[in-house]
Amino acid sequence: MESRFPDDGGRPAPLVAIDVSRQREMGKMTCTVVVGAQWGDEGKGKITDFLAETADAVIRYQGGSNAGHTVVVGGEEFKFHLVPSGILHNKCVCIMGDGTVIDPLCLAEEIVGLEARGVSCERLLVSGAAHIIMPYHRLIDRLQEEARGKGGIGTTLRGIGPAYTDKTARMPLGIRAMDLGDEAMLRELVTAQLDEKNRIIAALYGYEPVSVDEVLEEIKPAAQLISKHVTDTREVVFDLLARKANIVLEGAQATFLDLDYGTFPFVTSSHPIAGGACLGTGVGPKAIDEVWLVCKAYTTRVGAGAFPTEDHGDEGTRLRECGHEYGTTTGRPRRCGWLDGVILRTAALLNGATHLTVTKLDVLDAVAEIPVCVEYKARGRVYKTVPQDARILDDCEPVYETLPGWQTPTTGAKSPSDLPHAALAYLDRMSEIAGVPVRLASVGSGRDQTVEWK
Ligand code: GDP
Repeated sequence: MESRFPDDGGRPAPLVAIDVSRQREMGKMTCTVVVGAQWGDEGKGKITDFLAETADAVIRYQGGSNAGHTVVVGGEEFKFHLVPSGILHNKCVCIMGDGTVIDPLCLAEEIVGLEARGVSCERLLVSGAAHIIMPYHRLIDRLQEEARGKGGIGTTLRGIGPAYTDKTARMPLGIRAMDLGDEAMLRELVTAQLDEKNRIIAALYGYEPVSVDEVLEEIKPAAQLISKHVTDTREVVFDLLARKANIVLEGAQATFLDLDYGTFPFVTSSHPIAGGACLGTGVGPKAIDEVWLVCKAYTTRVGAGAFPTEDHGDEGTRLRECGHEYGTTTGRPRRCGWLDGVILRTAALLNGATHLTVTKLDVLDAVAEIPVCVEYKARGRVYKTVPQDARILDDCEPVYETLPGWQTPTTGAKSPSDLPHAALAYLDRMSEIAGVPVRLASVGSGRDQTVEWK
């Protein structure tokens, strides 16, 4: 691909390609955040793809290639790790926002893979301010996690945490996407990073030092490819807002993996909550119209950390098999359990949710009676929202109510009236707990397996 902005020092070209007229006609000029309510894997990719059909732009606002957003179209499956889930819609501009961290090798592989499947990545823009994950960030992630032993956080070992650490440590330690196209600058920054990191790698972990030349050689082709997509996306975002475009801000991971509001320390290094959408894109809070909270009809979690409604028995195994609960990026089996209303209620509050979208309703199709946790009990008191202190959360006993199952397939439902009464009652209860109306229910991975309340 030729450079988008070859002659102007990386400044964006006029956005003639972005056509917002469709949305003007439809009166659908909204800025919508898509955020996971639980511990990730809720099906945000599918919901983002749904919204992207009428969107001018989808902007990923945080995280890195630890995300795995799945979109299934006509039986064909796409797994996005970095590229926003709007890329399958050919009028939608896809932006990797300032708050993301980018592994150039992963992103290049994803772009090449998508293009090979006929999906054009011409419309992909990468924020120059997004920080870069270097091969040694992945190495340090692994060495750190190995050194933690049994007390490990359960990271995906993709270098996300170490790259965010360098970002917060500031110059000269953070390398950004805008540096990828400047070989001399890149060499200077990598040399500065490795000067410090090699001392840590050798002294703390007794590992071989990493060579500057080898790193630069390894990332060169990917850096060249990606730098063609890099631009000042703030200008792009301001322009989209000024033109009242229809924008989707796509979160990765989820509310309870948020660095501040999640179940610390078993969290991610960024801010998946809706507030993070402002940090990671340059969209101000007043510009956000809707927050779509994506919640599975039950609960899953990958890796360590509190999970009050986890089912260690047959029901948990059944949910895992029926819901294919294995990580998109890592293949790790997910821990499974019933819907946790305390998590849902807290997520609705933390995100200022305006719409609830319930995914994987079909996974409960065969269950006769469905337990739903409505509050916790711990240390002589009742908790309606998630306690701040993880030690209290560890002691929390879920208090369940039981709702009747529908024991009817829902996978063919196209509208609310196609859903069994008990399924509608279940969704109503979720809505009541969250204090947010249901906008969508997903009854299968396919694009058309979506029930919408208009
Ligand atoms: P994300 O990271 O939040 O986008 O979620 P993932 O892609 O990791 O996991 C969601 C998985 O569930 C994917 O394989 C989707 O294709 C699938 N999925 C999404 N919605 C539904 C649904 O309503 N029913 C079923 N059975 N699968 C779904």
